[in-house]
Amino acid sequence: MHNPLNRTISQVLSAVAILAMAFFGAAPVLAQQPAAERRYLIEQVGPYAVVQYYVDGFEKLTPEQRVVAYYLAEAGIAGDPIYYDQISRYGLELKQLLEGIWTHPQGIDAAALEKIHRYTKLFWVNHGNYHLDSSRKFVPEFTPAELRTAAQRALKNGANFGAKDSKALEAKLKRLDQPIFDPNYRPALTVKIPPAGQDIVTASGNNLYENVTLAEVEKVQGTHGLNSRVAKRGGKVIEEVWRAGTPDRKVAPGRYAATIRRIVANLEKATEVAEPEQADALRKLIRFYQTGEKSDWYTYNIAWVKAASTVDAINGFIEQYLDPRSEKGAYESVVSFVDFEQTKLMRDFAAHAQYFESRAPWREEFKKQNVQPPVANVVTVVSEAGETGPLSPAGINLPNEQDIRQKYGTKSVLLFNVSAAFAGATGEKAAEEFSAGEEEKARARKYRPRARNLLVAMHEVLGHGSGKVSEKLSGDPRAYLKEYYSTLEEARADLVALWNFTDPRLAALGVADQEELMRAAYDAEARQALVILNRYRQGDQVMEDHDRGTQMIVHYLMDRFGCIEAITREANVYLRVTDYAKMHQGVGELLAELMRIKAEGDYNGIKKLIDTYGVKLNPAWRDQVVERATRIGLPTRAAFVSPLVEPVRDADGKIVDARVVHTQDFAAVMLTYSRKSLGYLPAR
Ligand SMILES: [Zn+2]
Repeated sequence: MHNPLNRTISQVLSAVAILAMAFFGAAPVLAQQPAAERRYLIEQVGPYAVVQYYVDGFEKLTPEQRVVAYYLAEAGIAGDPIYYDQISRYGLELKQLLEGIWTHPQGIDAAALEKIHRYTKLFWVNHGNYHLDSSRKFVPEFTPAELRTAAQRALKNGANFGAKDSKALEAKLKRLDQPIFDPNYRPALTVKIPPAGQDIVTASGNNLYENVTLAEVEKVQGTHGLNSRVAKRGGKVIEEVWRAGTPDRKVAPGRYAATIRRIVANLEKATEVAEPEQADALRKLIRFYQTGEKSDWYTYNIAWVKAASTVDAINGFIEQYLDPRSEKGAYESVVSFVDFEQTKLMRDFAAHAQYFESRAPWREEFKKQNVQPPVANVVTVVSEAGETGPLSPAGINLPNEQDIRQKYGTKSVLLFNVSAAFAGATGEKAAEEFSAGEEEKARARKYRPRARNLLVAMHEVLGHGSGKVSEKLSGDPRAYLKEYYSTLEEARADLVALWNFTDPRLAALGVADQEELMRAAYDAEARQALVILNRYRQGDQVMEDHDRGTQMIVHYLMDRFGCIEAITREANVYLRVTDYAKMHQGVGELLAELMRIKAEGDYNGIKKLIDTYGVKLNPAWRDQVVERATRIGLPTRAAFVSPLVEPVRDADGKIVDARVVHTQDFAAVMLTYSRKSLGYLPAR
């Protein structure tokens, strides 16, 4: 299961439903990043903010672990073309056309080329010409004539389009004309509610089925549900199994055989350097890729879920979102490693959880004894391909096979450096526009990323797990507080974090610059009450639970404590903290009240608080925030630039180590993926 990135980590965490978890920033809370090198927001591509994520701590792995990461990344990238093909049957042909033009631009009209570039980037983000979140097809700004002229010119420049001459290229362009330009040709990728006269298979534009109806698919007793395409050939419905074939030729090669062999070759290299347990799991994955058999997939997954290697890979035909029948697995690859530094910090926090509970501002009777905070797997992502990149999830819980889950458990990971990069991209912009003055702006630049990591950590470890409900309450407070419960709980966890920012124990845990971090966090909280308004472009109500929590906290503090004020400068509104000590006091008071409400299941109490402070928005502020957010290009959706893992060789050319390169260049990374996985681009 993938958890999306468009909301906060808390939602991801609750959606993942992990038994035991907590988490910390990928960028170490304690260390400071050199700001100049950390450019998160690279460019805007259609509705997507293109964001570079960073791999901290790679240098702390052993050379063997880095080499394993290199081969696993190579394996992932080798399979990337599969996902283009799964999306659309013309996807790889169109990719070759666009990349041929991109790499052979001499003499092409600049305006036309610019439009082709924009389309190509959007195509890379989505592995095809459908928006993956809405499932809708998108069409280019350029005309068929502009594309033809550009392609013919690129051909003269030496582009390899798989067409031997300009006539063959014309035929190819004619074939691609409808797929590219006709919005009504296969208009939606995955259709669960088909229009009249169609079914979910015929109405879906993806390439998991060809020329078959739902009834025909269901008639075939499929033996390779997860890893096959169903097509009609000569009147006969067949399964084209995705597999390489076995070396002894007992199992014949299937669809994607050549590509899968490249995945396998890299996995084999990885087994040579991997820890024994991981090498064993990888050999089982190789076996599955060769046979394509479900039993081999199960054997692999059981080994994978048990293996606790530092460097890990998710690689295979995994999630079933692309298939309207929820059966076929889309290709994906995530290579990551455990973030030991953050795990240590997390354990430190967990170890002191009882101390923080005892210092909570709520009544003694609501304080928990024997606090046992949850523990989570926080990983640093190194490389993503296929369905997980450039559009990355924020959390993943696997395997999906229910029987394995029940018998052997699951692995849940938070891709924290990825979500931290998105927070970095949005936070930088929001801080520049919505800070009330230069001092606040400077503080945000210097301290906000660390303040956020700390806040998130305390929110999860010390916040959600804290507090005790009244003995008079029978059952879960959720049942009493109903539709207000989630808002209360998110606000409560935020307040616990904000409250503890001033606690002396933080210094003992190694947190430096505590006063400035507290101020940066309080500033950000106030600012956030404006920034969230950008998400409610219609109506006059804040809807989402975290947003309602933020709105409630800030407006409560403004009203009852006067520690945050709204000021207007050059017609722009700002929310500015005027008194941090008073804000801390207000945070404590509201937190104590929320804990009482939760403990006693006081429905009327929470209804009054949230209805008064958390729901209704100021439409004039909202209109202004939307205008300012639009003007500065405040990101709402992100696509990610993966780092590249490069091999380090010894004098004999043997790969003995690897390093990570952050290109901050989306096109360069996508073209590198093509060079590694497809043969048509010239070497640089
Ligand atoms: Zn939460």
